[in-house]
Amino acid sequence: MIKRNEGFANLAAGYLFPEVAKRRREYLAAHPDAKIISLGIGNTTEPLTPHITKAMVDYAAGLGTAAGYSGYGDEQGLTALREKIAERLYPGMASSDEVFISDGAKCDIARIQMLFGRSVRIAVQDPAYPVYVDGSVIVGAAGKPLADGGHDNVTYLPCTAENGFFPDLSVIKPDTLIYFCSPNNPTGAASTREQLASLVDFAIKNGCIIIYDAAYFAFIRDNAIPKSIYEIPGARQCAIEINSFSKLAGFTGVRLGWSVVPSDLKFSDGTSVKKDWNRVMTTLFNGASNIAQRGGLAALDDEGIKETKSLVDYYLENAKIMKKTLCGKNFVAAGVKVYYTGDSPYLWVQFPGQKSWDMFDRILDECRVVTTPGSGFGPAGESYLRFSCFGHRSDVEEACRRLEQFKL
Ligand SMILES: *Cc1c(COP(=O)(O)O)cnc(C)c1O
Repeated sequence: MIKRNEGFANLAAGYLFPEVAKRRREYLAAHPDAKIISLGIGNTTEPLTPHITKAMVDYAAGLGTAAGYSGYGDEQGLTALREKIAERLYPGMASSDEVFISDGAKCDIARIQMLFGRSVRIAVQDPAYPVYVDGSVIVGAAGKPLADGGHDNVTYLPCTAENGFFPDLSVIKPDTLIYFCSPNNPTGAASTREQLASLVDFAIKNGCIIIYDAAYFAFIRDNAIPKSIYEIPGARQCAIEINSFSKLAGFTGVRLGWSVVPSDLKFSDGTSVKKDWNRVMTTLFNGASNIAQRGGLAALDDEGIKETKSLVDYYLENAKIMKKTLCGKNFVAAGVKVYYTGDSPYLWVQFPGQKSWDMFDRILDECRVVTTPGSGFGPAGESYLRFSCFGHRSDVEEACRRLEQFKL
């Protein structure tokens, strides 16, 4: 018989979101009439916008005609879309041949792990989006599991209120692959120009490569905060950016993302990283959906940019409403601390002295509101809950009314 990939045995027990879903199901089974509101999983809820929808509908209709049909396209994506991303999002920072279109950021993160293989050491923010570590575990790069829930080839970088949610970089060993997400999921922290400059400087000095996950760049409203790592001088020598239309334009189900791999980025033997990435994308990937790519093109013209800005504004307004509630008398009196700067869809809320899963259960039980336990994103997330602002306004308002009555 064939031996199981030992990477799977090294994975930590349950993936976070299935456990959240299980507890929700169990609650509903015991309370069949309860109207549960989810402020948990980071899934978009509002419809695609009209201009972007029309571009996809028109293109899809064309596919049903002899004149409009197209089959496989370039694996790297439509040239027009690569050019538009370079021009609109990376002016003077990256060129179109450095942009690779994909079926989403999570999938790119998985393929990145093939690019670096199993011998690379990795570092992640703690707490972090689970795929950085779990994907590395599956390919064998994370090493063996440790008793504390970590892995022996992974350097965990605690990001807490005490360090302003920006890690101490000095614990990272040379030649490490550093996963870095800003604005951050789950903490919501958007790193400043100075912080990112220190990260880039550290990476260059220590031969590290940064995998910069910018999936939430569209939520940045503070003009002083960089929307791309390439706004930092030197980043072209040390960083890959991973990005997505999911949170920008509500493409979570449509599926469209991109990566940027600058020509300046090299492996220790002098090989261009971009050359190998091109090989990964052309060998293991067969191009993003042609319909989705037309939606991406529309999202980046003037009309589309206007639409996606108001879509993101809608969610940011939800966050404002939630922040007001979570900073209310009942929460303040219990010592609850709300971390939210207005540049992300996530409120990161600390319940000092409490366990994340205990607070999750209490809020589910007493408010019928689903949140996400911070400890599920890493040990430094213990005592926190993540509140997501993706939701219909009426649901958010109802959840807030219930939370205002919550007796902590
Ligand atoms: C949602 C999310 C993604 C996933 O993007 P897709 O393009 O939908 O695969 C990537 N990174 C982070 C941090 C996310 O929260």
